[in-house]
Amino acid sequence: MELFKEFIFEAAHRLPHVPEGHKCGRLHGHSFRVAIYIEGEVDPYTGWIRDFSEIKTIFKPIYEQLDHNYLNDIPGLENPTSEVLAKWIWQQVKPLLPELSRVRIHETCTSGCEYRGD
Ligand SMILES: [Zn+2]
Repeated sequence: MELFKEFIFEAAHRLPHVPEGHKCGRLHGHSFRVAIYIEGEVDPYTGWIRDFSEIKTIFKPIYEQLDHNYLNDIPGLENPTSEVLAKWIWQQVKPLLPELSRVRIHETCTSGCEYRGD
């Protein structure tokens, strides 16, 4: 069984490695949607894998680094594509939440990526 908890944060970025004139090279913002997935057995008594609020608590300091910030200024996010961001979030969350199975990023309503670890 997998469960997920979603978070939405607002942030600005620009992509420094795109070709000259590419729209993503300009400073712009997104309402990023992040889903943190965990995998595990459903506890027969509680009926859940883990309390959603525990995921929220674990993700809070990471969320605060991202929300209303310029992603390019964050160490490790100098080239903040969705792919780089998904991996960065994985690296922050995995030590705190070993059941982490997937990080999904929606950069726009129709574009995003999923990372399932190395
Ligand atoms: Zn963008």
